Amino acid sequence: KNFEDFKFNRQILNAIEEAGYTQPTPIQEKAIPPILNGQDVLGIAQTGTGKTAAYVLPMIMKLKFAQGDDIRALILAPTRELALQIEENVKIFSKYTDLRSVVVFGGIGPKAQADQLAKGADILIATPGRFMDLYLDGHIVTKKLQFLVLDEADKMMDMGFMPQINKVLEIVPKKRQNLLFSATMSEKVERLSENFLLWPTKVEV
Ligand code: AMP
Repeated sequence: KNFEDFKFNRQILNAIEEAGYTQPTPIQEKAIPPILNGQDVLGIAQTGTGKTAAYVLPMIMKLKFAQGDDIRALILAPTRELALQIEENVKIFSKYTDLRSVVVFGGIGPKAQADQLAKGADILIATPGRFMDLYLDGHIVTKKLQFLVLDEADKMMDMGFMPQINKVLEIVPKKRQNLLFSATMSEKVERLSENFLLWPTKVEV
């Protein structure tokens, strides 16, 4: 199996090649087709398996091009470090598209992040608390949202982000594609996936 088999467009294939990826990892092989098909996906995969590209690549493919200033994809992550890593992946794989991404997280002032959002973004990577703060201050419009990704959902729950995640679920459009990634499968993750995902395809490595 190689990346050409997924019917990615040339811009994405060129970026994959430049990143030095020659073959999809097992989680990428399993997760990319259902995501491209528009299905909700529950992915059980640890960091190091290539899980980030497993959802970033098909998401970029489906978003295709920039459209206005409002975000169409939101990726929530538990920590600043993970948010920055995800953003790096998004930047690498959207290099030959005109999609714009912004990353926001707590621990620093919100001003620079709000200024970046004001310039417009298609993909937003965020920690849950800072996302809600910026949303409540009017810096984020969610009405165009098509993709919602919860990355390292088990860690987000362990860190106590469930109230913020529930608030996010209240302010995003009902019709959207949901992706839930977790390193472990637990009762808590099971419950979250029941609330969050619609007829999910479960992929595991
Ligand atoms: P992740 O699990 O998403 O944190 O990725 C772990 C590491 O594997 C990162 O350094 C990625 O750049 C790298 N990686 C992901 N997918 C592939 C691939 N198909 N081929 C080679 N390296 C990859």
